[in-house]
Amino acid sequence: MHDQILERFFTKLSKYSKEDAEKIKRAALFADERHGDQKRASGEPYIIHPIAVAETLISLDMDADTVCAGLMHDVLEDTETTHEEIAELFGETCANLIEGVTKIAAIKLENKSLQEAETIRKMFFAMSEDIRVIIIKLADKRHNMSTLQFLRPARAREIASECLDIYAPLADRLGISWLKDELEDLSLKMLKPETYQSIEEYMSTRRKEQEDYLDRIEKDLYRAIAAAGISDVRIISRAKHIYSIYMKMKRRGKDIGEIFDILGVRIICADTTTCYTILGIVHQLWPPIEGRFKDYIAMPKANNYRSLHTTVMAKDGRLLEIQIRTKEMDYTAEYGVAAHWTYKAESGREATDWKNLDSEHFSRILSKLKDWTTEIEQSESFMDDIKSDILKDTIIVFTPKGKSVELPANATALDFAYMIHTEVGNRCVGAKANGSIIPLSQPLQNTQVVEILTNPNAKPRVNWLKYAHTTSARRKIRAWLNKNSEDVVIEKNIIAKRHVPDEDEELKDEDIKLSVDRRASRNASQSLLGMKNMMISFAHCCNPVRGDEIVGYISRGRGIIVHRKDCPNLKHMTEIEERKVDVSWEGDTWLLRRFHITSKRTSDIFGEIEGVIKRYGGNLIEGHVEEDDGGKLFGTFAMECANEESFKKTVKAIRELKNVQSITPAT
Ligand code: MN
Repeated sequence: MHDQILERFFTKLSKYSKEDAEKIKRAALFADERHGDQKRASGEPYIIHPIAVAETLISLDMDADTVCAGLMHDVLEDTETTHEEIAELFGETCANLIEGVTKIAAIKLENKSLQEAETIRKMFFAMSEDIRVIIIKLADKRHNMSTLQFLRPARAREIASECLDIYAPLADRLGISWLKDELEDLSLKMLKPETYQSIEEYMSTRRKEQEDYLDRIEKDLYRAIAAAGISDVRIISRAKHIYSIYMKMKRRGKDIGEIFDILGVRIICADTTTCYTILGIVHQLWPPIEGRFKDYIAMPKANNYRSLHTTVMAKDGRLLEIQIRTKEMDYTAEYGVAAHWTYKAESGREATDWKNLDSEHFSRILSKLKDWTTEIEQSESFMDDIKSDILKDTIIVFTPKGKSVELPANATALDFAYMIHTEVGNRCVGAKANGSIIPLSQPLQNTQVVEILTNPNAKPRVNWLKYAHTTSARRKIRAWLNKNSEDVVIEKNIIAKRHVPDEDEELKDEDIKLSVDRRASRNASQSLLGMKNMMISFAHCCNPVRGDEIVGYISRGRGIIVHRKDCPNLKHMTEIEERKVDVSWEGDTWLLRRFHITSKRTSDIFGEIEGVIKRYGGNLIEGHVEEDDGGKLFGTFAMECANEESFKKTVKAIRELKNVQSITPAT
């Protein structure tokens, strides 16, 4: 139907064998015939979309089945075509890939976070079956993200934020860095168009000057490397992608003019030893910045990324990030998982057993993916798990015997202990890092050797829930406490605790009698109700949210109901004093406050505020502003901070922002 479009696509198949190219052409013609005169939201013929997806897959050097599936990925959903038909014409593998992609797409739920969660669940499931499904899905995302402007703005923003939350981190975890960068930039462009544009404009006014500068840098590097007798080196330099610059500004609470490390240089050489030699040469040319050197060759990232990173004070006193890696490492860094399935027609490669690739090829990533899938399927709160444990950066630490253990950044010794074994966690009494005792609450650092001190009589404590960061450790602690601890019920992020003195609590003689009496009387009233097996729910009258001060009320037959401490209904409740129970938010020792704010009109007031909050270690929880007729913004926001002190500093710094006119506590 669309001969010109197809003909142009057919010229891009030169890397495939004659037979494979024929199959791909057949798939393209088939998809075009089935989609017929369907149109994209842009008004273009539909076939433009599957072809764009296939082109991305070709640039990732994917095999013919995957490219065919990319071409036909929407035919099951959008046309009358059946699985059987595709299986017969193109083989079962191809049909299964398309079905995998279709399944991920075919869920529509009212609730957005449920929808996201369900999408991810399906995605991880599909991934463990055949990871090519996800690569097709990412290619699909890439084209959809580049045509967002044709959708309703609200819908477009939804898709962009989902892309930033899920698909870009996924591309990162699969190690396909160029795709991650591109998805991040496309998302930012939709979500914060003015910010995106201002960074882009800044960069383009500087482009000429930056290019000249990088030219001079490259010349110096080539000269020094050649002088050391090293040949076969390629240097690539460029400005960082827009989203990464935006994140630097946000994290540091700074203007773009104050961000200096926006240029990056990559040196690609022949072998690993040469990488280290070149590192030495670089450090002789320009002094390295302390604390910025990272050896991802000795310590690869979880997605198999390997490279040396260093930041130096280069010519004209400018900060420059330099990456040094071999050709192979560079290829893996750009193509990730896909790198191991590259299409090599000339080698006459035998059909690969895609489902059992892990044994021979990319064992690390694939086994990780399978772990994730199992973890996720067992988890009630998998959306949180994914955001916190899976899509985040990781560190690697070692057992005293030298076994490496991978943990999410910010994990503590408790997370480590539970990762080793549930019993090691349950009996943990302390920990050492590199030989020194560290608090169980202290985040571990990359490459530390961690030793867990255990005692057979030790047992988990409620405050461990504050120290453990991984969902799996918290799940184990919660399970132990719910099962073994008489006076504690933990559910829905609420810890309900009957007030009895901790057995470790030192009691004076006269206190003991009193406390035993009190305990006896409380137990008398509460044993009727029985803390164990009680459900926890939130009161509808005052709807407490995380951070509110709360109390629990043991109701007849309806378990523990959590109210805000200032809920007016509380005082009318029967036997309130006897039925009251201590409740607290799990893992929450921070203070949450709301503030009113007025500011001058600006594109991204919360971006500015969040930058400041982050600088003082807090979190922006939520916020909204409206614009009045005079073009002024007014609204409220909530933030959490570790303590009173950092609240004061943060508020002061927000007040000093040039757009902010007032900030006052909201009650
Ligand atoms: Mn599609």
